[in-house]
Amino acid sequence: MIKLVRGFKDILPADTALWQYVETTLRELLEDFGFAELRIPILEQTELFARSIGANTDIVEKEMYTFADRKGDSLTLRPEATASVVRAYIQHKLYAKDPVWKLYTIGPMFRRERPQKGRYRQFYQINAEVFGLHDPRADAELILLLMTFMRRLELSGIVLHINSLGCPECRPRFKESLKSFLADRSEQLCSDCLGRRDKNPLRIFDCKVPSCKESMQDAPSILDYLCHACQNHFFTVKEILDRFNIPYEINHSLVRGLDYYTRTTFEALAGALGAQDAVAGGGRYDGLVKALGGPDQPGVGFAVGVDRLTELLAGRAQGLEKRPDIFIAAIGERAQDIAFQWVQDFRLQGVRAEIDFENRSLKSQMRRADKFGASYVLIAGDRELDSKAAVLRNMTTKEQKEIPIQDLIGLVVNTIKTSITGSE
Ligand SMILES: [Zn+2]
Ligand SMILES: [Zn+2]
Repeated sequence: MIKLVRGFKDILPADTALWQYVETTLRELLEDFGFAELRIPILEQTELFARSIGANTDIVEKEMYTFADRKGDSLTLRPEATASVVRAYIQHKLYAKDPVWKLYTIGPMFRRERPQKGRYRQFYQINAEVFGLHDPRADAELILLLMTFMRRLELSGIVLHINSLGCPECRPRFKESLKSFLADRSEQLCSDCLGRRDKNPLRIFDCKVPSCKESMQDAPSILDYLCHACQNHFFTVKEILDRFNIPYEINHSLVRGLDYYTRTTFEALAGALGAQDAVAGGGRYDGLVKALGGPDQPGVGFAVGVDRLTELLAGRAQGLEKRPDIFIAAIGERAQDIAFQWVQDFRLQGVRAEIDFENRSLKSQMRRADKFGASYVLIAGDRELDSKAAVLRNMTTKEQKEIPIQDLIGLVVNTIKTSITGSE
């Protein structure tokens, strides 16, 4: 038997209702906030990611699915979406049509990480990106959107971390200070971090090796090095979060592993204390559009990890399954024939209808209706057809009534739609 590739997974029907719920909830919210959907390919030229994410990052060095296509071009399955969104924004000159763009995209990302529980090499994200706004209100609004989404999902225990990474004016001074802090800590740093120390010491904050983590506890804070403009920017973001009662923690080691971030960074963490992990994260990337050959336009965005969210919501899947409004139990060939027509008619009227083709006994068809969890069962046998009426049974109240066959579709659709609006 051929099995799926290690590190990948199937999402089975029992789970997809929850996936759709998470996606629809965020999609609706994004559209209320003025975002439009952008659909982009899952692969790009490798150079796009090398240039945007940074050549000496774990993602680019170790985790990308990179391959030569038949003509020898180096292609990569996207490890994240921002680079592709920026590429599309530049390529289609969206900036020339309007100075401000709010875009979202939903889809799979690929990273060849070490397989471990709950981590997959194909994982799903919803990305939101805003172009053309330097204003700190754009950053705050994205965080508001994200936290509103978490509230709508009724996820408790989500903690928001925020930080500012400064700008090309002020960050170099911080880097120098961090380098001198790290200069006499060579024994504590892992070999990866020793390499990072000169090229990009900020990344050492992301290292999971315990001795690296420990040595970074006394590291200087970027927040002490922010220039005046960056201080004001960060201040306004915090002020808006306060005004909207969004609790946050300032985490000066929140640097995120990517090269292009400037100023605001943020992460939403879930899980018990000590085992918290990020379910969403984002930040500002004012230099990226220009670095990828576009105009000097600022950007800010976030990515939500759908896999992790559906894990957190796993207990909630049951109420979300789509059950038929009506199951038609047709007994006998004549009834089966008419019922086949009815079931199509119901569906055209927007009623979720199901039928069994096996022509089994009434008892076994009722069992099947129960298994589906149908709200109503329409029973039609030779006796019912002869008296020109079928029996409609409400599976909750067990009430039964006869429905004349002549107006059957209209009457049943009416009953079902009234009961749906009545119960809401
Ligand atoms: Zn600055
Ligand atoms: Zn390290």
